[in-house]
Amino acid sequence: MKYQPIIGLETHVELKTKSKMFCSCSADYFGKEPNTYVCPVCLGLPGALPVPNKTAIEWCIKIALALNCKISNISKFDRKNYFYPDLPKGYQISQYDEPFGLEGNIKLKTKNIRIRRVHMEEDTGKLLHANVGGKKVSLIDFNRSGVPLVEIVTEPDFENAPQVAEYLQKLQQIIRYLDVSNADMEKGDMRLEPNISLVSRISNFQFPISSENLPKYKVEVKNINSFRFVARAIEAEIIRQGELLNRDETPTQETRGWDEKKGTTVSQRSKEEAHDYRYFPEPDIPPITFGLREIRAVREQIPELPDEKRKRFEKEYGLSSHDVDILTRERSAADYYEQAVKDGSKHSLTPKKIANYIINKKPDMDKTVPGELVELILVTHQTTEVSSEELKQAVRQVLLENPKAVGDYKAGKTQVLGFLIGKVRAQLPPKSSSEGIRELIEQALK
Ligand code: ADP
Ligand code: MG
Ligand code: ZN
Repeated sequence: MKYQPIIGLETHVELKTKSKMFCSCSADYFGKEPNTYVCPVCLGLPGALPVPNKTAIEWCIKIALALNCKISNISKFDRKNYFYPDLPKGYQISQYDEPFGLEGNIKLKTKNIRIRRVHMEEDTGKLLHANVGGKKVSLIDFNRSGVPLVEIVTEPDFENAPQVAEYLQKLQQIIRYLDVSNADMEKGDMRLEPNISLVSRISNFQFPISSENLPKYKVEVKNINSFRFVARAIEAEIIRQGELLNRDETPTQETRGWDEKKGTTVSQRSKEEAHDYRYFPEPDIPPITFGLREIRAVREQIPELPDEKRKRFEKEYGLSSHDVDILTRERSAADYYEQAVKDGSKHSLTPKKIANYIINKKPDMDKTVPGELVELILVTHQTTEVSSEELKQAVRQVLLENPKAVGDYKAGKTQVLGFLIGKVRAQLPPKSSSEGIRELIEQALK
């Protein structure tokens, strides 16, 4: 390859606050009947005044802190003016020169990605292009209008699509650990915009690239809603721009869209400059100041994040990085594992054995509480064979002797299974291999 790709990424994350960014409408709009979650503020009616959502701002700062950003002491909202039917006010309330967070980073395996800014804004309505009575029409649903959005902008530090994919996995995981968004791609909770340019490999440059060494153009691919598509869009752009450069043409600075069917990007509009948006301070919302104490209070709400947790799991439980990656993928799974380790230590079950069991057998963590899991692991580690008749007999007896547990189970407290399994095991000779106890009990209690 003659050219080195240079990629920067803008990511929009929709927050799962109860209400919208500047009004009290519910922000839980997904799948609801169109235009039922609206009010004068989010419809942009004349005279309606925005009132910022404090939780949304705190969550934006939480994200910024988790990404190692500096938090500005003073921030403000600005109006970004442009005309589009999904934007009823004719401007979007966003942040321009004083965002909440600045200069953070996410560490990938082999490189550091700098985060330029983290800012707060509001979502737009949603356009739907349909066919009504044989006519092509565009319909607008304003339920999404005004839902809090956090935008995370990186420096142009990515060298290829796999790095972008790794970054996105990490970002999504951090957002989910923070519990501020479902970060669900299918529902549009996260929307991605890669910016791509190519530079000749013979020119003298190194990452991180200083702004004077950046190519004179960049192409932004808008609104991609899948990690896979973002990688494909980047690959397709690298090929398209490479071909232009080979012909001694400079790619046009523009915004393009991703056409999944064609597997190519398509031109949408030539890129606007910041001054086209006529940004100016939002006059209806005073600047927002943060004291150290307020920032500290937000910082204290941040849980242990994936990188720290991975390190601690490796050290504390002696696990491989592969095992740790799986166990910490979700915060709830990591918590589950740690509880099982605690419960298991009473039976001298090692953290490694528990990790192996979880990783290989993939137990349903919603149905099996950690204590029960420990029982299951103990059971699988037994060896002596017991006849199925013996086993059935033991189950029958235990169920007879424990009517309360049986009642609880039938009332839906399935966690008593662990207790019953333990009782059955106690009936059997030591070291019995008693696979199938669980199934027998479940059958008997159907
Ligand atoms: P704009 O003002 O047009 O939105 P910015 O300079 O704010 O442009 O950058 C937007 C995004 O584009 C950032 O993620 C940035 O890292 C990235 N970017 C900037 N220049 C380039 C370039 N030459 N090639 C690829 N990405 C770039
Ligand atoms: Mg942009
Ligand atoms: Zn509203």
